[in-house]
Amino acid sequence: TIAIALLTQDLRLHDNPVLHAAARSADEVVPLFVLDPGVEAAGFAAPNRRAFLADCLADLDASLRRIGGRLLIRRGSAAAETARLAEETGAVAVHVAAGVSSFARRRESALRKHLGDRLHVHDGSLTALVPGAAAPAGKDHYAVFTPYFRAWQRSSRRMPHRAPRSLRTPAGPAGTDPDAIRPERTDSPGLPPGGETEARRRWKAWDVTAYEEVHDDLAADGTSRLSPYLHFGCLSATELVDLAERRGGPGAEAFVRQLVWRDFHHQVLAARPDAAWQDYRGKGDRWREDSREAEAWRQGRTGFPVVDAGMRQLAHEGWMHNRARLLTASFLTKTLYQDWRTGARHFLHLLVDGDLANNQLNWQWVAGTGTDTRPNRVLNPLTQADRLDPDGAYVRRWVPELAHLRGRSVHRPWLLERPPADYPAPLVDPGEVAARLRRGRGLD
Ligand code: FAD
Repeated sequence: TIAIALLTQDLRLHDNPVLHAAARSADEVVPLFVLDPGVEAAGFAAPNRRAFLADCLADLDASLRRIGGRLLIRRGSAAAETARLAEETGAVAVHVAAGVSSFARRRESALRKHLGDRLHVHDGSLTALVPGAAAPAGKDHYAVFTPYFRAWQRSSRRMPHRAPRSLRTPAGPAGTDPDAIRPERTDSPGLPPGGETEARRRWKAWDVTAYEEVHDDLAADGTSRLSPYLHFGCLSATELVDLAERRGGPGAEAFVRQLVWRDFHHQVLAARPDAAWQDYRGKGDRWREDSREAEAWRQGRTGFPVVDAGMRQLAHEGWMHNRARLLTASFLTKTLYQDWRTGARHFLHLLVDGDLANNQLNWQWVAGTGTDTRPNRVLNPLTQADRLDPDGAYVRRWVPELAHLRGRSVHRPWLLERPPADYPAPLVDPGEVAARLRRGRGLD
């Protein structure tokens, strides 16, 4: 018998519930990835992520070939292509992971229409704890992180699966090469390579024990940088939690807490798919539109060095440090008062880890329309800069116009006797920003 493993955000051999179930249920397995034009039309196949995806698929194909299988890649509607392949091969079953976005749900119901009870949907591939597995009495999700975290810690999670040692894929069905989906050019020159092999290498090379001390230091760059691999499922969150818990200690605990934030946002989106683009809490229309200011923000030319450093890191690497994401997002929404969707769209276009649950719900958290229990919190870009980049090294790394300045003077170039001519003056008067923060709004 033949089964199809339709892979989506689970591009790995290790701890893959979909591959595991397909291999147990049939003699031969067709691991399938379908590049759906619906994903492209919705803007989710942005060039940075598409380049990373091509790496992931090539790596997965190579790993599958080592154990006797291969990956089939096709283009078209995921449901129709899968159904066509099921006809072609006479597959008795199709296995796929449950998703949380509206797109994933539509795909699942279209697959169900084509395949009926030959479709098997598996929970527990995307997150460490299945969305909805922990919920407050009478509700379908947690709206506040801390009680979710406590419930998460009390919940039982599944054990990771081993990687299959062998897999037989029937000869015959043909697909395209991973390179056929690689974009001609990407927006960012410094993208990381994709794939499960690279993800596992990074985890091994990275020191989780120092995480608690360094994770807020912008210049130290001491976080795992595993987010793109988690987004594409090159690593399973379940396995990563397991690995970290085995390591133990304050660093591993702080790291697991961040992975729980990921689960938290996924359980919110699973219950409220509309929150991808609508305010999670109706806060309404306090935004102003100023395309010149929004463009200066996108270009990293706001005149606030730490904000510009973050935006330029994003442009160059397709990735930004979490602390820089928080303060650039706060600057756009709470200093410039621009709609969070303007920022979320730009992030989604460039981020190689760009993820509907994590991106949109973090944006909403910062904008005060989401799950933050202190929605009026505003991050002061200057005190944040002093705290998170005390020596100014992060700014010097990303803003070459300021690279010659010493120490933290780099955070306030407007105070210099002769401010660098090629660096913009602040978009908003810094004195006014501080005064605005002091008046009425919470200050962090
Ligand atoms: P580490 O610090 O090593 O953390 C380990 C993992 O925990 C991360 O890889 C990630 O999967 C998860 N994690 C950490 N912090 C968060 C968080 N706040 N929310 C959810 N998961 C978290 N993360 C994305 O994966 N995709 C996004 O599109 C995304 N957009 C964001 C937008 C904004 C405005 C903000 C404030 C945060 C966003 N994040 C997003 C969350 C976080 O910034 C990144 O996950 C993190 O910076 C990735 O770096 P890392 O892998 O080194 O993280």
